[in-house]
Amino acid sequence: MKIAVVGAGIGGLTAAALLSEEGHEVKVFEKEPEIKELGSGIGIGDNVLSKLGNHDLAKGLKNAGQVVNRMQILSDQAQPLSTVELKKNSVNLTLKRQSLIDVIASYVPDSDIYTGHKVVKIDNSDMKVTVHFQGQESETFDLCLGADGIHSVIRENVAPKCKVNYQGYTVFRGMVEDVQLEEAHVAREYWGAKGRVGIVPLLNNQAYWFISINAKEKDEALSEYGKPHLQARFNHYPDDVRQILDKQGETGILHHDMYDLKPLDSFVYGRTILIGDAAHATTPNMGQGAGQAMEDAIVLVNCLRHYDFNESLKRFNQIRVKHTAKVIKRSRKIGKIAQHTNPLVIRIRNMIAKALPNSYGTRQTKFLYKSKAK
Ligand SMILES: Cc1cc2nc3c(=O)[nH]c(=O)nc-3n(C[C@H](O)[C@H](O)[C@H](O)COP(=O)(O)OP(=O)(O)OC[C@H]3O[C@@H](n4cnc5c(N)ncnc54)[C@H](O)[C@@H]3O)c2cc1C
Repeated sequence: MKIAVVGAGIGGLTAAALLSEEGHEVKVFEKEPEIKELGSGIGIGDNVLSKLGNHDLAKGLKNAGQVVNRMQILSDQAQPLSTVELKKNSVNLTLKRQSLIDVIASYVPDSDIYTGHKVVKIDNSDMKVTVHFQGQESETFDLCLGADGIHSVIRENVAPKCKVNYQGYTVFRGMVEDVQLEEAHVAREYWGAKGRVGIVPLLNNQAYWFISINAKEKDEALSEYGKPHLQARFNHYPDDVRQILDKQGETGILHHDMYDLKPLDSFVYGRTILIGDAAHATTPNMGQGAGQAMEDAIVLVNCLRHYDFNESLKRFNQIRVKHTAKVIKRSRKIGKIAQHTNPLVIRIRNMIAKALPNSYGTRQTKFLYKSKAK
């Protein structure tokens, strides 16, 4: 088949790599002049790696990633609140976002990628789909994958009623070198009234961090926030947090408001399929956005290989719509619990979190590993 992939992000490139391997004629259209991820780091869990099985891409990811085997939540006074032990015999990785993109892109033939191609609209039917670009000639395909992220133009064409929802918090992110974390295989979050701070180890004594603060959408009070403001705000948080902010350069801090999508009923619209954030953007609280985008690509390609065309799209929809809706809802709920600022509510929340056995947190993530691959 002749397939257009719109967006050379994590989902689009994974789909392109696997589809071209299957012998499809694939063209990836990216609006930016080059394939580039915004800094910082990302987690890719065993739910992705086990679905890739022995594929070389899994080996490439393992080479570039740091293994993480536990996730801990602590109070802003470093009291442990809960621990999630990641499944035994599973591999959960953290990578620099750019490394992740570079590894995936290395499996896509260069000649399949068309940068500087901004898609403005599609004409979608039951048999063909025509992709229209800004300033370039339109082209017709058998299939179009909308992998163009949370503000997807493709979704706007096929499911215009679906809107993004602001979640009430804004996130700062950065990456630091030469850090001495207490445990190199443990990701930590510190929850307090001033905000939530996450510190995640990467290979070679690097780490990425994020800080999540309750705020109005596009809050002007926070638009100028830089390293000194974050240091002042979090100077009473544990040493780890102070160390990370000390090591952060004055520039290079990313800042984004957090949105998700109300779960869609379908990702398949005639000859157009939505994948990744375009289909099911979620808050980052479960660290699953990129992983779910990659899973979409893997499941879609498996389905196309194992079933006839119509059945494969039906099957893809059946597997992915329900599963990703659960991720969106659970992640949103974690965000609500984590972002409390009222001291009394925080005291009660922390008491409950401490009282729950660690197996509770571990159970909450189990469904991630159980989703079907085809
Ligand atoms: C603060 C934060 C932390 C996160 N942490 C994690 C984490 O730890 N683990 C995890 O799994 N996920 C995480 N995520 C989520 C993750 O980044 C996304 O889910 C993931 O990048 C989605 O990949 P995608 O390929 O669907 O979309 P994107 O990565 O957004 O890629 C879309 C691509 O499409 C291109 N594009 C857009 N419009 C057009 C157009 N009209 N024409 C052509 N090209 C277009 C864009 O330029 C881009 O290259 C985090 C997100 C945030 C905001």
